[in-house]
Amino acid sequence: MTKKDYYDVLGVNKDADKREIKKAYRKLALKYHPDKNPSKEAEEKFKEISEAYAVLSDSEKRQMYDQYGHAGIDQQYSSEDIFRNADFGDIFSGMGGFQDIFNQFFGGGSGFSRGRRVRRGADLRYDTEITLKEAYNGLDKQIRIPRTESCDVCGGSGAKPGTKPKTCKQCGGRGQVRQSRRTAFGMFTQVGVCPQCQGKGVIIEDKCKKCRGTGQIQVNRDISIHIPAGVDDGSQLRLAGEGESGPGGTGDLYVVIHVRPHDQFKRRGADLYTVQTVSFPEAALGTKKDIETIGGESVSLKIPDSTQQGTILRLKNKGMPLVNSSRYGDLYVEVHVKTPKKLNRKAKNLFKELEKEL
Ligand SMILES: [Zn+2]
Ligand SMILES: [Zn+2]
Repeated sequence: MTKKDYYDVLGVNKDADKREIKKAYRKLALKYHPDKNPSKEAEEKFKEISEAYAVLSDSEKRQMYDQYGHAGIDQQYSSEDIFRNADFGDIFSGMGGFQDIFNQFFGGGSGFSRGRRVRRGADLRYDTEITLKEAYNGLDKQIRIPRTESCDVCGGSGAKPGTKPKTCKQCGGRGQVRQSRRTAFGMFTQVGVCPQCQGKGVIIEDKCKKCRGTGQIQVNRDISIHIPAGVDDGSQLRLAGEGESGPGGTGDLYVVIHVRPHDQFKRRGADLYTVQTVSFPEAALGTKKDIETIGGESVSLKIPDSTQQGTILRLKNKGMPLVNSSRYGDLYVEVHVKTPKKLNRKAKNLFKELEKEL
């Protein structure tokens, strides 16, 4: 597959200035950004325009491209090098940042911003079980999360307080070193993690005692969470920034809520289902029954005369609350008619009398 001309990709003239190039890119990026357009084609297109922008917005790379075309760029730069130092600054405000997208594209490899590895901390998942009644009321809960945090003694630098990490001499703080090889086909450049600093860009001579120079510690952190009224089984709460910490920021914490089945109420969405048993005469003549709701109150339910086995009656708004709403589901009561057992002689005779009337 031949690569398209970078100017054509962005739809600008060969003599376009930086401002025009940025403007053209911004317009296309908004259209093909993975947050707006999740298709595979859009992703490819997004990569294509971003590469074109990265090259044309950088005077050195642009000159190389103008002179030697794609071959000039491809021989001189790795795909990550192409994006290094490109100014994506304000283009993605309000959308997934450039860093996230390119970590996706390049499988989370070395970052390109400042040439350093800027890995975000991992997301964490925590499972918790609550009762249906707790789901009805909502609750505040303390949970204990084992996680990696930035060291509180050195502030995450890994250096003993009062000392500073030194910039790595071998890579000049970039965390990466480039090795060039001359071959029959020209110069080939490979970029690798700096062996001196393992990609951190700094060397710590006096290590912090608490974290032994890693900048990170393991802690069991108590976190208060609010579970809103009406949560359903399997709901997730996302607590931004409560995951593991990493050099590139903290991940998120996902709390997965499990609602224990209730022995009296079955749940379907916001509606609840329960069963009420009545006797033969009650079903035939009608009656009133006190029904206990999940909220704890007792509600009088009118069972009309001639009620058949399996009839479902509704108690409006006596089900579960809807999350972030003042509305409630309903409570459905299924009537079970109990057939009398072990009739004595008198009862049998009364039934026989009754049978003649039906
Ligand atoms: Zn420390
Ligand atoms: Zn280094």
